[in-house]
Amino acid sequence: MTPLAALLVARIRAGGPITVAEYMADCLLHPVHGYYTTRDPFGAAGDFTTAPEISQMFGELLGLALAQAWLDQGAPAPFTLAELGPGRGTLMADALRATRGVPGFHAAAEVVLVEASPRLRQVQAQTLSAAGRAVQWQASVAGLPDRPLFLIANELLDALPIRQFQLTAEGWRERLVGLAGDRLGFGLSPPLPRVPQTPAFGAASPGDLVEHGAAARDLAAMVLRPVLGHGGLAVFIDYGGWRSRGDTLQALRRHAWDHPLAHPGEADLTAHVDFEALAAGRPHHYTTQGEFLRRLGIAARADRLSQSLTGAARESHLAALRRLTHADEMGSVFKVLALTRADAPLPPGFAP
Ligand code: SAH
Repeated sequence: MTPLAALLVARIRAGGPITVAEYMADCLLHPVHGYYTTRDPFGAAGDFTTAPEISQMFGELLGLALAQAWLDQGAPAPFTLAELGPGRGTLMADALRATRGVPGFHAAAEVVLVEASPRLRQVQAQTLSAAGRAVQWQASVAGLPDRPLFLIANELLDALPIRQFQLTAEGWRERLVGLAGDRLGFGLSPPLPRVPQTPAFGAASPGDLVEHGAAARDLAAMVLRPVLGHGGLAVFIDYGGWRSRGDTLQALRRHAWDHPLAHPGEADLTAHVDFEALAAGRPHHYTTQGEFLRRLGIAARADRLSQSLTGAARESHLAALRRLTHADEMGSVFKVLALTRADAPLPPGFAP
């Protein structure tokens, strides 16, 4: 049993079952035993690999997309250039390098990284000091300054806690983490008088499990305050769908699937993002990662980079292009949601 599992078993024994959201929050960000608190999980030696770690093209194109949106909106100055959950800082480093030539962009930008893990802040500081650019950190989106905001978040929303509800013969019940003997086990709450009101709940049939990401919705609302008030663009990229249905809680440990309750604090825990609930009727643009990167010109960028590569380096570059864009890889399961003002120009990477 992991140290966090022992703590959770004791807590549940004393206080009763906890929600899936409480479980996820402790697994990922417990101050002592949390997954992100204790490690740098990315890359071949870690538990999973993300798009910016696969190829520099990802951060470059995202940086240029934000810079183009900034130009299209009249180049407001000063503005916040922000990333949420920057991991190793690779995406922001690539974005800053790619946008050096955009007149006025760097001079007007104040770079803000929103990161909950002190351990990963250190890694980000290292990556970005090599990029030679002053950045500041905030622990939450509540600390984003009140001015135009151009923001990117890759694989952040899937790490935010979700609750799970099931429509049973007796009505809605919540899926909880309790005890099965001496170990953690899933169970259901008594029937609930009310549940959250998102389209997924309204569309459910008996037996269906529906997920609710209150933290993601609150975060989107907070990010939108400066965007709607002063202009800007927020781009969210993640695993998910327009209306996610069913149980998507999953654990990944050393690049292999794990039972979500098996190694709390030692496996990455995620849930698919329900983009419909996140957009919540606001002005938005939505597409797949593959389409988005193709419209941003990834083919031309890949060609250009491959000219200076030979042998194994060229092979791996072409494999990275395929991995990011192909429908059998990350191209269609990853989606891109852009939130902006209704009167803002169409953001780069989206079809009218
Ligand atoms: N964007 C990076 C990392 C994705 S992993 C990449 O694409 O490689 C998720 C990141 O979000 C980590 O940096 C993690 O520490 C951070 N994170 C998780 N929950 C968070 C929260 N509630 N607030 C801010 N950052 C969070």
